[in-house]
Amino acid sequence: FIIPEFQEFCKQIEEIYWKCKENTNGKVASYIPQLKRMSPNYWGVSICTIDGQRFSIGDVSIPFTIQSCSKPLTYGIALDLLGSDVVHKYVGQEPSGRNFNELILDHNKKPHNPMINAGAIIICSLIKTIARAEMSLAEKFDYTMNYFERLAGNDDLGFNNAVFLSERECADRNYALGFYMKEHKCYPENCTFKECMDFYFQCCSLEATCDQVSVMGSTLANGGICPLSEEKVLKPESVRDVLSLMHSCGMYDYSGQFAFKVGVPTKSGVSGALLVVIPNVMGICLWSPPLDALGNSCRGVQFCEELIKKFNFHLYDNL
Ligand code: GLN
Repeated sequence: FIIPEFQEFCKQIEEIYWKCKENTNGKVASYIPQLKRMSPNYWGVSICTIDGQRFSIGDVSIPFTIQSCSKPLTYGIALDLLGSDVVHKYVGQEPSGRNFNELILDHNKKPHNPMINAGAIIICSLIKTIARAEMSLAEKFDYTMNYFERLAGNDDLGFNNAVFLSERECADRNYALGFYMKEHKCYPENCTFKECMDFYFQCCSLEATCDQVSVMGSTLANGGICPLSEEKVLKPESVRDVLSLMHSCGMYDYSGQFAFKVGVPTKSGVSGALLVVIPNVMGICLWSPPLDALGNSCRGVQFCEELIKKFNFHLYDNL
């Protein structure tokens, strides 16, 4: 086993869980009613190791919309379809040092990276053809959802239509970003702007549970092979790129500090989810809706910091 004393390990995880549960800092996202209604008390932790050992505690079976945690996944799909060279003609690899939805492009007039809204919208515009055939919006959605489900070990995911409709309704900033990038010719040819935006909102509105997201994390930790189904879902070179950018850009404008303190690739979403990948060891999902000023789950970030105090998972711990 990759974690030999798994029982003992889980006991320690449980201790950290209860410690973080007492943390009542932060505010639940309120830009759409469906997120605003989320209880601040929800708190779940799920673990799935690359050899399929699992542990979970708390609210691990309640579906939530994965929001920005979809960004590394759609990026991975685009890489698998098109390769890194093509994808990075359209989007950079640099932390933006700004908010996730900031109206800003890099000095080449490209989005800074695929982990912020601008970059993720462009990634959504790149997922459009398979085997040279243009996909309709419906096919694109099916294709992507199916990919996400395979990352989660062929478990059924959900789609929250109310969140999708609200996202689309309250998306002035995302449309502004979209048009700004249109002005700068950031999109590939024949891109239907409206469809691309809808597809982006749909990816944000896919629903999963803490348990399911931990399996997605373990597939990434395992180089793209799902430990439960043993299916090769993503190419290892795609996963390498995904993890690199999760590491440097995954936690909004806290990414630098998080990479320094915690030192594992992680992506957060506005629903309070954290997708944590400990390469060659395990995937972890942390979910608790209250967010700090930078938009990361308060309990989630605290959990990561506590975890690194107890275990040497930081990428530079074992020198
Ligand atoms: N739906 C949100 C948006 O596009 C997702 C952002 C997030 O999770 N940070 O604004």
